[in-house]
Amino acid sequence: HRSLADLDPAVHDAIQAELRRQQETLEMIASENFAPRAVMQAQGSVLTNKYAEGYPGRRYYGGCEHVDVVEQLAIDRARALFGAEYANVQPHSGAQANAAVMYALLDPGDQILGLDLAHGGHLTHGMRLNYSGKLYRAVAYHVRESDFRVDMAEVERLALETRPRLIVAGWSAYPLHLDFAEFRRIADLVGAFLMVDMAHFAGLVAAGEHPNPVPYADVVTTTTHKTLGGPRGGVILTNRADLAKKFNSAVFPGLQGGPLEHVIAGKAVAFHVAATEEFRDRQRRTVRGARILAERLTAEDVRAAGISVLTGGTQVHLVVADLRESALDGRQAEDRLHSIGVTVNRNAVPFDPRPPMVSSGLRLGTSALATRGFGDAEFSEVADIIARSLAGEPTADAAGGLRARVAGLTARFPLYPGPSE
Ligand code: PLP
Repeated sequence: HRSLADLDPAVHDAIQAELRRQQETLEMIASENFAPRAVMQAQGSVLTNKYAEGYPGRRYYGGCEHVDVVEQLAIDRARALFGAEYANVQPHSGAQANAAVMYALLDPGDQILGLDLAHGGHLTHGMRLNYSGKLYRAVAYHVRESDFRVDMAEVERLALETRPRLIVAGWSAYPLHLDFAEFRRIADLVGAFLMVDMAHFAGLVAAGEHPNPVPYADVVTTTTHKTLGGPRGGVILTNRADLAKKFNSAVFPGLQGGPLEHVIAGKAVAFHVAATEEFRDRQRRTVRGARILAERLTAEDVRAAGISVLTGGTQVHLVVADLRESALDGRQAEDRLHSIGVTVNRNAVPFDPRPPMVSSGLRLGTSALATRGFGDAEFSEVADIIARSLAGEPTADAAGGLRARVAGLTARFPLYPGPSE
């Protein structure tokens, strides 16, 4: 019964240092967010002790009456939030959810079609070092070089040529809505399943700020920790009873053993939060913040530094800055922002001439800051800080001034205030 601080000060101190880092910097990694305390409380609960292989009401272990309540709440809330007939809330992560869908629908060697990683796709959509690129024959579609929009003509052409069994629509770094109806049409044309991976934009969908893919897709997967703002984890949604059964057996016993019921409790709480007006307001601030950022990063002083924004703007929670024409590469830009207390990640842009470890892009997201309480005024300040850091002279004086402005923002919007344990 010893506290963490007493039992293991090394781990305790690292956690405290991470808390301070999150409190004192501007978190703009597009896949990150701040989970509510209530979600972390659920995750830190006694549910971590419980084995519950199976599904609510059909378990292979005794003593599951309470975790059944929790998991059923998570399932019902996920279904209601996204308007889906069936939900599986057990995948340990987004990658696990995608693996379960492919395991359920495909045989090894089957053809799949997904967005190229270098063009904004995800590892699990067929990248050659990922299971999805090793177990299945993966072909990638791309964005057009002229306007950086997904090339639906290429999707159709590749679908007709390669006859995929599964088409994956979804992204990790793409600033626009996808045309789900067009993906559905192409999938039907070749008799493919359509999977939409809404990991990044699920929070926007829940808030009605983004088209909902559920009516178009055979299956929708998501993470619960990005815009959705819950615990780290995955979910599978479908309207098809025949597929729901297959997904359930692909997750357990196919790929996983005991579900993480403490995380599932956190998911239930996150879905409860996501159904509130406060959450919808947060998602609206998120999208407006990204627009404000895109506008500032297309202003004259930034353009003069050779920096632009892919597609010229954004419809979602992120902006991809294009540094191909800039003297600053992705790594230098990431480091420069890090030095003033802004955390982002460098990202390859389509047609990137620089190697992936360096890259010519920055992915900047507004989710975590909106959760912190930022509105239009604060996002304008953040956007100006970033623009000046990237486009201005990197003198010690200039950096000091920008660091002070970051500190001003973090002080005005305390994160996880009060005692930390
Ligand atoms: N799918 C997409 C589109 C993602 O962006 C990510 C995470 O970056 C994942 C799946 C994988 O999620 P996880 O990191 O939880 O495995």
